[in-house]
Amino acid sequence: MTMSTNLGWPSEPEPGPEHRRLGWLARMLGVSRETAALEPTSSVADALPTPSAHPEDAAALEAAAQGAPDGTSTMTRSSPSAAASLTPTATETSATMPATMPAESGANDAVDPTEMAVTTLDPTDAALAAGAGAPAQPVDNMVDEGTAPGPSERETGHSEAGDNVVDEASSMTQLEHDHADREALAAAIPMPGTDTPLARELADNARRRIQLTGRQFPKPTSQRVLTVANQKGGVGKTTTTVNVAAALAQSGLKALVIDLDPQGNASTALGIDHHAEVPSIYDVLVDGTPLLDVVQPCTTVENLFCAPATIDLAGAEIELVSLVARESRLQKAIAASAESGHEFDYILIDCPPSLGLLTVNAMVAASEVFIPIQCEYYALEGLSQLLKNIDLVKRHLNPALHVSTILLTMYDGRTRLSAQVADEVREHFPEEVLRTTVPRSVRVSEAPSFGETVMTYDPASSGALAYLEAAGEMADRGAAGPT
Ligand code: ADP
Ligand code: MG
Repeated sequence: MTMSTNLGWPSEPEPGPEHRRLGWLARMLGVSRETAALEPTSSVADALPTPSAHPEDAAALEAAAQGAPDGTSTMTRSSPSAAASLTPTATETSATMPATMPAESGANDAVDPTEMAVTTLDPTDAALAAGAGAPAQPVDNMVDEGTAPGPSERETGHSEAGDNVVDEASSMTQLEHDHADREALAAAIPMPGTDTPLARELADNARRRIQLTGRQFPKPTSQRVLTVANQKGGVGKTTTTVNVAAALAQSGLKALVIDLDPQGNASTALGIDHHAEVPSIYDVLVDGTPLLDVVQPCTTVENLFCAPATIDLAGAEIELVSLVARESRLQKAIAASAESGHEFDYILIDCPPSLGLLTVNAMVAASEVFIPIQCEYYALEGLSQLLKNIDLVKRHLNPALHVSTILLTMYDGRTRLSAQVADEVREHFPEEVLRTTVPRSVRVSEAPSFGETVMTYDPASSGALAYLEAAGEMADRGAAGPT
């Protein structure tokens, strides 16, 4: 498949009347998003641009805020329509902007509409943040899961293999009720008029967050192994791997990140120790150490595990050359861990920015390729080379391999270029590209320096919401059958 890269270089758009109006509103509100996150004192109605002109919208939004779900995994309401009778368990938090909105970039000096101090209707962050701080499940516990349901299992209603059919059915019913409740609640939020764009954004955000936060994702029909690949560096492979995996794990699925990049960025982002002496994926590939012997639990997200990379991996490309079955060593290690009864719902392999033996190992081990594409001009260059390599591996080593998922990252809604790249990619890969795009977000880039994913570092940020939404789309596809 060939990609056209004839995108041109459109100039940065002049701020239009809408931008100016939103900038004015930001100044009127007088605080930045960061300030709002620290001091979430204003109400939803306060943040509306013209509350007096639309009193019914403001009142209805606030009523919906009062009645929003509490973010715990088991929703106990029986009547979705009785929104007003529901009890919120958290206060307002800072706003998140939709993936298609301008990003929160510190690099731009102009007043950015997204830097407005606004609060959302979402009352679920406290619950989410509390969940994020829960103690991680030790690796040893993976062995016991079949017999002793852990807290997450009780909360989510997921059944491990071997549980009886009644449990499965009731957990499905619970998920369906949960979904119906969310949809009804989201539908209860009024749609403000077109002359109040800020109120529309608030309503949209509130709706998305109600639909997403605290939602339990369905299990895939079978373990999914995805190679996150793109031979370009800096396109968001590692960021996507760790955040999607964290979002899946927070939503009740068991996820493993395999760090196959000698830089070890994914291990760092998950707060996993990966100094030279730590047992790592190098030992698995070169010495044949069982995969589970090197897997460590992530301390900030339950159900999330990581096979770290150490600096040793830098030499593995060369050392692998002389080894037997050098291209399929990771695949054998994953198969052996599944045979020993330790299946993960999702395994995401973070690849280095090259198409060497490490990436080939990842492509042989996975049946799906997950390509993050940065919404920038050069992002499309080289994609045809990646597709050719995938095709080669498919023909000679792994017939099941296919590109199943593409995620547009670092989307900047202020530039026409981002939109053009997104349109072009969607045109070529209509089935594979996720509806969600990940906006450029300062929070996303800050999170790794704290050894956390953005899902726990700032669950209310636009980046966290986008990754949660993307992971939800992937989980829905996975539950619908082979992708
Ligand atoms: P790769 O693994 O493809 O080399 P990374 O995931 O390491 O790419 O991302 C490259 C840089 O871009 C990192 O500094 C990361 O923090 C930053 N980054 C990734 N996604 C975003 C985003 N959505 N918003 C802002 N910065 C991002
Ligand atoms: Mg990387």
